[in-house]
Amino acid sequence: MKCPFCHEADNRVIDSRLSKDGNMVRRRRACDKCSRRFTTYERVEETMPLVVKKDGRREAYDRLKIVNGLKRACEKRPVSSDTIEAVADRIERGLQERGEKEVPSSLIGEATMRELHDIDPVAYVRFASVYRSFKDINEFMVELEELLKERKGQPAKPAGEKPKKGPEHR
Ligand SMILES: [Zn+2]
Repeated sequence: MKCPFCHEADNRVIDSRLSKDGNMVRRRRACDKCSRRFTTYERVEETMPLVVKKDGRREAYDRLKIVNGLKRACEKRPVSSDTIEAVADRIERGLQERGEKEVPSSLIGEATMRELHDIDPVAYVRFASVYRSFKDINEFMVELEELLKERKGQPAKPAGEKPKKGPEHR
């Protein structure tokens, strides 16, 4: 960080403290050249990518939309709000980790489907039927059959617990 007075790039930190909420570090610095002091603030970048809709419109990322979609799908199902929040967290983190400025809205939809698939079959089918807007009942039945086939023989998982998948899943 350049000195705001003389633009020298070298300086030393003379004091460093964490903000009350722990989200920011305030550093007092002294310029190596002119010895004047200035303050810098460091925080984690929390910007989320813009969401690109099917028609090309961009809109600001909105966590509430994900949470509401999940809640609607999980209505009257044995899925806790903690689970819903955790799912939203995972989807959000996945979007952040891509490090892109924009993401297609379909990416959020697909991620939500994958999560629900592991959590609750009814919620999954509900979400998938709305999200994919199945053109006819046959398409819907194929999806349903595949889901039932996959789940057959699997021990019942407690709702909300995400199964471990492969070594890359940490
Ligand atoms: Zn200076």
